[in-house]
Amino acid sequence: MQRWLPALLALALAGCAVHPPVRELAMPRPYAHAIGGATFLIGGSFEPGRSPDGNSLILYGTEGALVIDTGRHPEHWTAILQGLRGINMAPVAIFNTHWHLDHVSGNPALKAAYPGIKVYGTSAIDRALTGFLAASAEASRKDLAEGAIPASAVPDVEGDLATIARGAELRPDVIVREGGDLLIAGRPLSLRVANHAVTESDLWIYDAAEKRAIVGDLVTMPAPFLDTACPEGWLTALDAVAASGAEQVVPGHGPILTMAEFGAWKAAFGDFIACARGSGALETCSAGWLTGAKAFLMGDKRAKAMADYYGELIRSGKLDGYCRA
Ligand SMILES: [Zn+2]
Repeated sequence: MQRWLPALLALALAGCAVHPPVRELAMPRPYAHAIGGATFLIGGSFEPGRSPDGNSLILYGTEGALVIDTGRHPEHWTAILQGLRGINMAPVAIFNTHWHLDHVSGNPALKAAYPGIKVYGTSAIDRALTGFLAASAEASRKDLAEGAIPASAVPDVEGDLATIARGAELRPDVIVREGGDLLIAGRPLSLRVANHAVTESDLWIYDAAEKRAIVGDLVTMPAPFLDTACPEGWLTALDAVAASGAEQVVPGHGPILTMAEFGAWKAAFGDFIACARGSGALETCSAGWLTGAKAFLMGDKRAKAMADYYGELIRSGKLDGYCRA
């Protein structure tokens, strides 16, 4: 999720009562906590009036630690750094699932703390830095100058501008083009690349020993964050996750899912895309998402406004450019 749309949505809805989730699907805790297999999850946030942080993970091998995604806000990087101090083993690598700022903004802070650390990711950030992020920064500067951004969203917008200004420092040291198996820090992992999905090129990770797929924003709650996505490529990537042999899925936003839950999320996503690509009323598509993904809305009242927004984005054809090579 980019820029300050979510902040505006949150503000618009700030007066609404927050209803409890429809079922027990608790958000991951915002500090490093063990999820099994020498792996710790630092849950992302999506506070009202603020832009989100994606989930981060710390994985330990026999020879060091690995970090997957680094969040947007300093509080999130601090939680990762605190988690890394819990087991005194230096991180050797960061894997960025994709270039969105809620997943890469902590890269420079972690590199400053651990100068030997190498960032792994796809090269999609290069085009984003001169395209989407440059345009986003320009629009944000104009909006700030015109006072068009709500006061509560200004710190996030300024934070993103500062991050984009250091964009070159976000780039990967090791570009992952095709994926494949690797042994890193003494830990075997399988890197999988999904082209034309959430971004031009996404990375997800299959941890075969734990039968765990760590998929970044291929799964997000309370709505799919389609800002820079090719919807059809995203569906293809979800098929690959389903066929991976995983028994659990760690999403980019939201709690860990069983495969049954992942299947339900995927079905709701597929229905939403098909509906938005069709010619019926878009309200039907939003309503379909709210029903099909009911278990994954986390009681978040922003879900409808987000589904409305993304339905229109798909219908407008503005995402079609992301499907072209
Ligand atoms: Zn994200």
